[in-house]
Amino acid sequence: MFIGHYAVALAAKRVAPRTSLGTLFAATSLADLLWPVFLLFGWEQAHVVPGPNPFLTLWLDSIPISHSLITLIGWGALFAYLYRVRTGDGRAALVVALLVVSHWLLDYVTHRPDMPLYPGGTPWGLGLWNSVTGAVAVGVGGIDIERDGALPGRALPETALSVTAWPESALNASPATPHSVTPFPVTPHSN
Ligand SMILES: [Zn+2]
Repeated sequence: MFIGHYAVALAAKRVAPRTSLGTLFAATSLADLLWPVFLLFGWEQAHVVPGPNPFLTLWLDSIPISHSLITLIGWGALFAYLYRVRTGDGRAALVVALLVVSHWLLDYVTHRPDMPLYPGGTPWGLGLWNSVTGAVAVGVGGIDIERDGALPGRALPETALSVTAWPESALNASPATPHSVTPFPVTPHSN
Protein backbone atom coordinates (compact mmCIF):
# COMPACT_ATOMS: atom_id res chain seq x y z
CA MET A 1 0.00 0.00 0.00
CA PHE A 2 3.04 2.24 0.08
CA ILE A 3 3.06 2.97 -3.64
CA GLY A 4 -0.17 4.97 -3.61
CA HIS A 5 1.15 7.26 -0.87
CA TYR A 6 4.46 7.65 -2.73
CA ALA A 7 2.57 8.49 -5.94
CA VAL A 8 0.63 11.25 -4.20
CA ALA A 9 3.87 12.65 -2.75
CA LEU A 10 5.53 12.67 -6.18
CA ALA A 11 2.51 14.34 -7.76
CA ALA A 12 2.61 17.01 -5.03
CA LYS A 13 6.13 17.95 -6.07
CA ARG A 14 4.47 19.96 -8.85
CA VAL A 15 2.62 22.24 -6.43
CA ALA A 16 5.40 22.36 -3.83
CA PRO A 17 8.54 22.20 -5.99
CA ARG A 18 10.89 23.50 -3.28
CA THR A 19 9.78 20.93 -0.72
CA SER A 20 12.09 17.93 -0.54
CA LEU A 21 10.76 14.57 -1.65
CA GLY A 22 11.74 13.23 1.77
CA THR A 23 9.35 15.69 3.43
CA LEU A 24 6.57 14.90 0.91
CA PHE A 25 7.02 11.16 1.43
CA ALA A 26 7.04 11.64 5.21
CA ALA A 27 3.81 13.66 4.98
CA THR A 28 1.85 11.13 2.90
CA SER A 29 3.22 8.23 4.96
CA LEU A 30 3.07 9.87 8.39
CA ALA A 31 0.21 7.64 9.56
CA ASP A 32 2.21 4.55 8.67
CA LEU A 33 5.30 5.95 10.40
CA LEU A 34 3.36 6.64 13.61
CA TRP A 35 1.38 3.43 13.66
CA PRO A 36 4.21 0.98 14.54
CA VAL A 37 5.24 3.26 17.43
CA PHE A 38 1.71 3.28 18.85
CA LEU A 39 1.58 -0.49 18.36
CA LEU A 40 4.75 -0.84 20.47
CA PHE A 41 3.19 1.27 23.22
CA GLY A 42 0.02 -0.84 23.06
CA TRP A 43 -2.14 2.15 22.09
CA GLU A 44 -3.15 0.54 18.78
CA GLN A 45 -3.71 -3.14 17.94
CA ALA A 46 -3.10 -5.42 14.98
CA HIS A 47 -2.49 -9.09 14.33
CA VAL A 48 -1.26 -11.23 11.46
CA VAL A 49 -3.78 -13.37 9.57
CA PRO A 50 -2.27 -16.07 7.33
CA GLY A 51 -4.13 -16.20 4.03
CA PRO A 52 -3.82 -16.48 0.27
CA ASN A 53 -4.07 -12.72 -0.34
CA PRO A 54 -0.63 -11.18 0.24
CA PHE A 55 -2.21 -7.73 0.71
CA LEU A 56 -4.27 -8.76 3.70
CA THR A 57 -1.91 -10.62 6.02
CA LEU A 58 -1.96 -7.77 8.52
CA TRP A 59 -5.28 -7.29 10.28
CA LEU A 60 -5.57 -3.82 11.82
CA ASP A 61 -7.86 -4.19 14.81
CA SER A 62 -7.65 -0.65 16.11
CA ILE A 63 -5.72 2.30 14.63
CA PRO A 64 -7.62 5.35 15.96
CA ILE A 65 -4.65 7.60 16.82
CA SER A 66 -2.56 7.16 13.69
CA HIS A 67 -5.29 6.62 11.10
CA SER A 68 -8.61 8.26 12.04
CA LEU A 69 -9.57 11.22 9.88
CA ILE A 70 -9.80 13.62 12.83
CA THR A 71 -6.40 12.69 14.28
CA LEU A 72 -4.82 12.81 10.80
CA ILE A 73 -6.10 16.38 10.43
CA GLY A 74 -4.41 17.07 13.76
CA TRP A 75 -1.17 15.35 12.72
CA GLY A 76 -1.31 17.26 9.43
CA ALA A 77 -1.72 20.59 11.25
CA LEU A 78 1.18 19.77 13.57
CA PHE A 79 3.44 18.62 10.71
CA ALA A 80 2.54 21.73 8.68
CA TYR A 81 3.17 24.03 11.66
CA LEU A 82 6.64 22.56 12.24
CA TYR A 83 7.37 22.77 8.51
CA ARG A 84 6.21 26.38 8.39
CA VAL A 85 8.37 27.31 11.41
CA ARG A 86 11.38 25.63 9.81
CA THR A 87 11.01 26.96 6.26
CA GLY A 88 8.68 29.97 6.45
CA ASP A 89 6.84 28.63 3.40
CA GLY A 90 3.11 28.83 4.19
CA ARG A 91 1.89 27.53 0.85
CA ALA A 92 4.09 24.44 1.02
CA ALA A 93 3.04 23.91 4.64
CA LEU A 94 -0.60 23.79 3.48
CA VAL A 95 0.34 21.21 0.84
CA VAL A 96 2.15 19.17 3.49
CA ALA A 97 -0.95 19.25 5.74
CA LEU A 98 -3.19 18.07 2.90
CA LEU A 99 -0.75 15.28 2.09
CA VAL A 100 -0.91 13.99 5.66
CA VAL A 101 -4.72 13.91 5.48
CA SER A 102 -4.63 12.30 2.00
CA HIS A 103 -3.41 9.14 3.73
CA TRP A 104 -6.92 8.61 5.12
CA LEU A 105 -8.57 8.77 1.69
CA LEU A 106 -6.17 6.35 0.08
CA ASP A 107 -6.33 3.88 2.96
CA TYR A 108 -10.14 4.22 3.00
CA VAL A 109 -10.22 3.06 -0.63
CA THR A 110 -7.75 0.21 -0.20
CA HIS A 111 -8.30 -1.08 3.35
CA ARG A 112 -11.05 -3.35 4.59
CA PRO A 113 -13.26 -1.35 7.03
CA ASP A 114 -10.69 -0.37 9.64
CA MET A 115 -10.48 3.41 9.03
CA PRO A 116 -12.49 5.43 11.59
CA LEU A 117 -13.51 9.06 11.14
CA TYR A 118 -12.62 9.68 14.80
CA PRO A 119 -11.33 7.52 17.68
CA GLY A 120 -14.14 5.19 18.70
CA GLY A 121 -16.13 5.84 15.52
CA THR A 122 -17.38 3.28 13.02
CA PRO A 123 -14.48 2.01 10.88
CA TRP A 124 -14.82 2.49 7.12
CA GLY A 125 -13.05 1.00 4.11
CA LEU A 126 -13.82 -0.04 0.54
CA GLY A 127 -11.38 -2.96 0.70
CA LEU A 128 -9.74 -2.65 -2.70
CA TRP A 129 -6.90 -4.84 -1.41
CA ASN A 130 -9.50 -7.65 -1.31
CA SER A 131 -8.96 -7.80 -5.05
CA VAL A 132 -5.42 -8.51 -6.18
CA THR A 133 -6.40 -7.25 -9.65
CA GLY A 134 -7.66 -4.02 -8.17
CA ALA A 135 -4.50 -3.63 -6.13
CA VAL A 136 -2.31 -4.11 -9.18
CA ALA A 137 -4.45 -1.60 -11.09
CA VAL A 138 -3.87 0.96 -8.34
CA GLY A 139 -0.17 0.19 -8.48
CA VAL A 140 0.01 0.76 -12.22
CA GLY A 141 -2.11 3.89 -11.87
CA GLY A 142 0.30 5.07 -9.20
CA ILE A 143 3.21 4.71 -11.61
CA ASP A 144 1.34 6.82 -14.16
CA ILE A 145 0.75 9.55 -11.57
CA GLU A 146 4.43 9.47 -10.68
CA ARG A 147 5.53 9.75 -14.29
CA ASP A 148 3.28 12.76 -14.69
CA GLY A 149 4.03 14.34 -11.35
CA ALA A 150 7.78 13.86 -10.94
CA LEU A 151 10.20 16.49 -12.06
CA PRO A 152 11.86 16.05 -15.47
CA GLY A 153 15.06 14.08 -15.20
CA ARG A 154 14.14 12.68 -11.81
CA ALA A 155 11.22 10.52 -12.83
CA LEU A 156 13.07 7.29 -13.53
CA PRO A 157 14.91 6.53 -10.29
CA GLU A 158 11.97 7.66 -8.17
CA THR A 159 9.52 5.51 -10.10
CA ALA A 160 11.95 2.62 -9.72
CA LEU A 161 12.03 3.25 -5.97
CA SER A 162 8.26 2.96 -5.68
CA VAL A 163 8.04 -0.09 -7.91
CA THR A 164 10.70 -1.74 -5.76
CA ALA A 165 8.88 -0.79 -2.59
CA TRP A 166 5.50 -2.01 -3.73
CA PRO A 167 5.96 -5.81 -3.76
CA GLU A 168 7.77 -5.59 -0.45
CA SER A 169 4.90 -3.72 1.13
CA ALA A 170 2.56 -6.33 -0.27
CA LEU A 171 4.38 -8.91 1.82
CA ASN A 172 4.32 -6.60 4.83
CA ALA A 173 8.10 -6.36 4.84
CA SER A 174 10.00 -3.16 5.52
CA PRO A 175 10.09 -0.56 2.74
CA ALA A 176 13.03 -0.80 0.38
CA THR A 177 16.21 0.68 1.76
CA PRO A 178 17.97 3.14 -0.56
CA HIS A 179 20.99 0.90 -1.24
CA SER A 180 18.73 -1.91 -2.46
CA VAL A 181 17.13 0.24 -5.16
CA THR A 182 18.29 -0.43 -8.70
CA PRO A 183 16.90 1.94 -11.37
CA PHE A 184 15.36 0.19 -14.35
CA PRO A 185 13.30 1.28 -17.37
CA VAL A 186 9.66 2.08 -16.60
CA THR A 187 8.43 0.26 -19.71
CA PRO A 188 10.62 -2.86 -19.91
CA HIS A 189 8.25 -4.93 -22.08
CA SER A 190 8.51 -2.95 -25.30
CA ASN A 191 9.61 -5.90 -27.50
ZN1 LIG B 1 -1.89 3.64 6.38
